[in-house]
Amino acid sequence: MNLETKALFLSFGTVQVPHQIEGDQVSTAGPGAGGQSIFFRSGERMVRLSVVASSPLRLEERTEGCAILMGNREVASGQLVKPLLHCPEQAYITVSERCIYDCKFCAVPKLKGGVKSLQVVRMMVEKAKKTGLLRAISLTSGVEVSPQSEAERIAEIVRHLKCFDVPVGVSVSPYPGVNRLLKEAGVDEVKYNLETVDRDLFEVVCPGISFQAIMDALQEAVGIFGENRVFTNILVGLGESNKTLCRGIDELAEMGVLPVLRAVYPHPLRLGEVEMTRPSAERLLGLARYLKSALDRNDLRGDLALTGCYRCTGCDLAPGKDL
Ligand code: SF4
Repeated sequence: MNLETKALFLSFGTVQVPHQIEGDQVSTAGPGAGGQSIFFRSGERMVRLSVVASSPLRLEERTEGCAILMGNREVASGQLVKPLLHCPEQAYITVSERCIYDCKFCAVPKLKGGVKSLQVVRMMVEKAKKTGLLRAISLTSGVEVSPQSEAERIAEIVRHLKCFDVPVGVSVSPYPGVNRLLKEAGVDEVKYNLETVDRDLFEVVCPGISFQAIMDALQEAVGIFGENRVFTNILVGLGESNKTLCRGIDELAEMGVLPVLRAVYPHPLRLGEVEMTRPSAERLLGLARYLKSALDRNDLRGDLALTGCYRCTGCDLAPGKDL
């Protein structure tokens, strides 16, 4: 799978999967929370695709491994990679599957899921560890009550996970003081999601949240966690221009933050609430190349990530690994 083919796959983001392949090869969660997905590795690259019956891409089994076809044409051959917890090699756990905020692209507030206790998270990580495949722990969380109480809950969980002796990454909604709390709990990497670098659009898609407060937390995090340890998700396809995106990428990279450029997933529970257009392969490629050059200019290295999406690479064209 070359870079262009991965960009093509990500522009669709979905694949049809025959029934006999489903089962433990299929992961839940990810950007299309609540659905199912597969991880397909071909050569050095890996892509995560949501399982959708109407997808223009189709997975087929081969004598050895499998292939992805578009119409009758085989576009790439490779193997499915079995996820550990959500993604390969990581225990990637959503602690609170609910949220008091109402970001217009996000399914979590609509799903109103449960909140995992420390014991449940610990048991999940223990099970993952027993496979011998665990390389990292990534915790993410909606906001059940407030950003502060959520971060305190996560910090407490992290203190109990350090015994597994793998790096821990955390993605939460920030508040003043979050970085010290997480650092002291033993967190190695943090991700505070800006979702869009278009400040006007942010007000519309993330009502009730402060753009500047996230920027402040990211800036402080670089000083506390160090270079190549601070990340932020930026969605592509909410109606933002490439010019605004590139300006935002530059600003973040100059701060020492690594943006994750994520193609928006138009979740069925959010259709019609806000513009969500899956970006074309060309747009994804152009932006990924711009991101790579911005990271290079600022001596940032995506391939050094210990946890999370830069380590996994399934959902994005990951600088330092894919290009
Ligand atoms: S890239 Fe991130 S969101 Fe996508 S599957 Fe991997 S860890 Fe999950």
